[in-house]
Amino acid sequence: MIFGHLAVSALEHRYVQVPFVPVMAAAVVPDIIDKIMHYGFGQHASGRMWGHTLVGVAVSSLVALALFGKRNAIGWIVGYISHLVCDSGGVVPWFAPLVQYEFPPAMDFITTLWTGLTKPTLILEFGLAIWAILALKPRFIETIRLSAPMPGRHFPAQSDDARGTTCASERS
Ligand SMILES: [Zn+2]
Repeated sequence: MIFGHLAVSALEHRYVQVPFVPVMAAAVVPDIIDKIMHYGFGQHASGRMWGHTLVGVAVSSLVALALFGKRNAIGWIVGYISHLVCDSGGVVPWFAPLVQYEFPPAMDFITTLWTGLTKPTLILEFGLAIWAILALKPRFIETIRLSAPMPGRHFPAQSDDARGTTCASERS
């Protein structure tokens, strides 16, 4: 399920120190591409095709490298590869189109969703999600604390400006 992928990427951000945005985006992009193509447009025999191949990894990583630089591209690759590894419980067409893959009979979206929600591995995904939340909680709190305006907190430049203005107005 998608939150399992997000949890793994969040843990990679925390423990492998890869950038947050690309590793989290790469956790969901393979499914977004292939599920939309399969369920939305009726393409491919399965909800896992080009987004779940090494060709997909290579092409998207080159785009990430060109647009966002090496550090973000590494985060992207880590998130993308881990998505495919986590999908290994089913068919992952890693080497398509060089290798032909046989997929189980296609199910409609609701049946696929229900099957995902009743799998025993869902417990593992919940566990990973809780771990990820606990691991990143201090960072979220720090980010919120730093971005929230706090009464009485002055930055040095502002304090100096404010003092200068006050002194100038007192002098005149
Ligand atoms: Zn997937």
